[in-house]
Amino acid sequence: MHETALVKNLIHKLQAICAEEGADRVVDIAVWLGALCHMSPDHFSDHFRQEAAGTCAERARLQIETSDDINHANAQDVLLQSLELETDDEALQ
Ligand SMILES: [Zn+2]
Repeated sequence: MHETALVKNLIHKLQAICAEEGADRVVDIAVWLGALCHMSPDHFSDHFRQEAAGTCAERARLQIETSDDINHANAQDVLLQSLELETDDEALQ
């Protein structure tokens, strides 16, 4: 449940950013997995693909950084480090 909630939150954040920026899709995202978020990069990818289906993040390329610092303030979280957006207008130019 916890994992699903983390990934859902991230997708919601991406959708909000897409809407704000008027972007059609996320092409690239970089995330940071805390030591205590209990997801391997592969496992995170599986959840991400599942939750991102049908959203602007559906085909985003994932760059995943993992942490082994259990004392980190965000050790239980998944953090969005950076992202690259694309709009159809740009793609046509
Ligand atoms: Zn899981």
